[in-house]
Amino acid sequence: MTIATVAAELEARLAGRVERDAPAGALTTYRCGGPLGVLVRIDSERDLYDVAPILVANPDVAVLPIGRGSNLLIADAGFAGVAIVLGGELEQIDVDPARARVEAGGAAALPVLARQAAKAGIGGLEFYVGIPGSVGGALRMNAGGHGAQTADVVTRARVLDLRDGLTRELSVDGLGLGYRRSALGPRHLVLAAGFAGHEDAPSACEQRIDEIVRWRRKHQPGGQNAGSVFTNPPGDAAGRLIDSCGLKGLRIGGVVVSEKHANFFAASTGARADDVLALVRLVQSRVEAETGVRLEPEVQLVGFADASEEVGG
Ligand SMILES: Cc1cc2nc3c(=O)[nH]c(=O)nc-3n(C[C@H](O)[C@H](O)[C@H](O)COP(=O)(O)OP(=O)(O)OC[C@H]3O[C@@H](n4cnc5c(N)ncnc54)[C@H](O)[C@@H]3O)c2cc1C
Repeated sequence: MTIATVAAELEARLAGRVERDAPAGALTTYRCGGPLGVLVRIDSERDLYDVAPILVANPDVAVLPIGRGSNLLIADAGFAGVAIVLGGELEQIDVDPARARVEAGGAAALPVLARQAAKAGIGGLEFYVGIPGSVGGALRMNAGGHGAQTADVVTRARVLDLRDGLTRELSVDGLGLGYRRSALGPRHLVLAAGFAGHEDAPSACEQRIDEIVRWRRKHQPGGQNAGSVFTNPPGDAAGRLIDSCGLKGLRIGGVVVSEKHANFFAASTGARADDVLALVRLVQSRVEAETGVRLEPEVQLVGFADASEEVGG
C-alpha cells in the first residue's frame, strides 16, 4: 500500500486529525525540517486502537513518534512516513503523595511532571524540570541530568507495539535503558509510565527545582536548540572536547556552536536542518582530527539520506 492510501485510511478513522505534508519545524525545538508525509494527532488510547491496525498491516511504512521534538532533527527533505503526536488524555499526570508515586501519560511534559511531584512532596523527579521533553521521549532516550536519569525513577511503562498491535506492560528491565538509549524502537509508542520518588517536604523539592532552573539559565543557551548535540564519550564531556578545539562560534548558515555551551548548537529563524547536520559532521571531523575521539550524535536524526544514525522506521 502506498503512503497516500495509508493516509486516506487514517483520515477515514480519525477525521480532522490527520494532516499531509505538515511542516516538521512546528513540532521540533530546532524549528526546522521539511514536510511530514502524514501527521496523525492522537488524543486517547481509544484513538490509537482505531489506527494501530492500519499501521500494523503496513510494516513498510515508516513510523515516527514525536513528543515535544526536543531531541529531534528532521531533514529539510522531510519524513516520508507516518508521524504520530500524542496529546489530550495522554498528557494526564496523577500524583500519589502517600506512596511517593507518579503515573503519567506518554505525552505528559517532563517539567510539569517535576513541578507537580515537587508540590505534592515527592522528591527525586526534580531533574525533569530542566528537560523540555515528554514522558515518551524520556523513556526512549533514558533522559537524565543533575546526577539522575529516567532509569533511576521509572518503574514500568505501557507500550503499544505497532509491529503486532499489542500493548504490553514493560518493567524497567524490559525497557533496556542505557546511556541515552533504550530498547524502544520507532514502532513502540509509550502510552503511560509509572515513576517512584521518595517522600520529602514540598519546600525542599521546590528549592531543588529553583536551583536546577537557575543552573540551566546560567550554563545553557535558550532559543532554538535540542539540548546536547552529542553524547558524552566515556570519561569526558563532549562540550569540553568541542571547546578545547576552539569551535565555539563555528557557523554553517543559520546554525552556530553556542558560545555558552559548546555541545549546544543554536539555530536562528529560517535555519535549515541540513545546516545543523553539516555542522554536526564538521564538528565531529574537527574533534576527531584533533583529539582522536569520535563524537556520536545524541540528537535523533530523521530523513537524512546519509545518516547511519537514522531513527524513523
Ligand atoms: C534546552 C534543552 C535541554 C535539554 N536537556 C536535556 C538533559 O539535560 N538531559 C537529556 O537527557 N536530554 C535533554 N534534552 C533533550 C530532550 O529534551 C530529551 O531527550 C527528551 O527526553 C526528549 O523528549 P521529547 O518528547 O522531546 O522527544 P522527541 O524529541 O520528540 O523524540 C525523541 C525520541 O523519542 C521518541 N519518542 C517521543 N515520544 C515517544 C513516545 N510517546 N513513545 C515512543 N517514543 C517516543 C522519538 O521517536 C524519538 O526517537 C534537552 C533538550 C533541550 C531543547
